Amino acid sequence: MERSLSRRPRVAVIGAGVIGLPIAVMLTQNRFKPHVTLLAAEFSPNITSDRAGAMMRLPEHVASIADPRVNGWFKETYQYFTQLYASSMAAKLDLSLVTHYSIYSERVQDPCQKDLMFGFREIGTEEKKILNISQENYAICYSTFTLPVSPYLMWQMEQFKANGGTVIQRKLNSLKEIDGEYDVVVNCTGLSSKELVGDKELYPVRGQAMLLKAPWVKHLIISGTEGHYTYIIPRKDGALIGGTLQVDNWSTEVDSSDHAGISERCFKYVPSLVHAEVLDEWVGLRPARKQVRLEIEDLSSNTAIVHNYGHGGKGLAFSIGCAKESVMLTEKYLGEKGFYMKSMI
Ligand SMILES: Cc1cc2nc3c(=O)[nH]c(=O)nc-3n(C[C@H](O)[C@H](O)[C@H](O)COP(=O)(O)OP(=O)(O)OC[C@H]3O[C@@H](n4cnc5c(N)ncnc54)[C@H](O)[C@@H]3O)c2cc1C
Repeated sequence: MERSLSRRPRVAVIGAGVIGLPIAVMLTQNRFKPHVTLLAAEFSPNITSDRAGAMMRLPEHVASIADPRVNGWFKETYQYFTQLYASSMAAKLDLSLVTHYSIYSERVQDPCQKDLMFGFREIGTEEKKILNISQENYAICYSTFTLPVSPYLMWQMEQFKANGGTVIQRKLNSLKEIDGEYDVVVNCTGLSSKELVGDKELYPVRGQAMLLKAPWVKHLIISGTEGHYTYIIPRKDGALIGGTLQVDNWSTEVDSSDHAGISERCFKYVPSLVHAEVLDEWVGLRPARKQVRLEIEDLSSNTAIVHNYGHGGKGLAFSIGCAKESVMLTEKYLGEKGFYMKSMI
């Protein structure tokens, strides 16, 4: 027999980064009309998400991993930003559609971006010369989106509050501290899930980056050649350059030798950057895991946990696809617990 609970369900999203915030917003618009609480130790601009590039990109090594959900998460997110770009919000968010050059040491057979991204093409000899790309390297080009993350998080937070969501600043030492207070807890705590839920598979991948005063740079370059990860991302107020991919390195201090290496590699592609003033410089720790953990764990009869963390360097790029799946898991659980109001069926 179908049950029907008269009270509204209570859902808490733990974490206010690019992963948690869109889920919190979507839940406030959900047909279950849950009470939604966003609980986080820290908010923008003091979290890892603020350190991201951030670009919408699906690299081959990610597209080909075992988890078949990855391509779908990326497609959903790319589609979301495509719609956002076509709206008046693009101006508020500084959301740009830019030409993106990806450079590889070796030819990539059937690049995964071919059918996913607008304007895909391979780069020929003449264009390589102009872009200071070695003729030995393989390069492709397509259009993609980039935006500074902090204004985007601020906008998501505005929506969440306007929709009636509750915000609490609190650091949890264990999810058990809130067991029974909510029907569903959505865990979006990124790298902190290593301690919070004891996930031994999580590890940091340290990234150092800097913002240069170089507003003339209009295209995006990513290079994975010679064992280095190098990028130049255009911003309204300059060019963001990086980076490093240092596995298991927990240091959040800016390192002078990383600074020198990033500068040298980026100046090779865009020599005019050599005169650009450094406006800011920072380090962020990507929450890496062999596979993103996105699943529901029914720990007790009172509270179910939806885990959504471990997105490494692809948190923004997967965010909307992962948010939709998290909301779907939450809805399914609430439905099974009898929260369907008769009028909603
Ligand atoms: C240099 C750099 C460049 C990057 N570039 C890109 C890019 O171009 N494209 C892309 O898609 N991704 C990029 N990333 C990756 C991206 O930043 C991350 O994948 C993403 O920010 C992870 O988001 P999150 O919401 O899971 O974590 P976070 O942003 O770390 O948010 C975690 C939230 O959980 C809260 N929290 C943690 N522990 C607790 C606790 N115990 N109690 C309560 N609250 C808690 C925190 O306070 C915070 O609010 C980059 C990362 C770095 C470092």
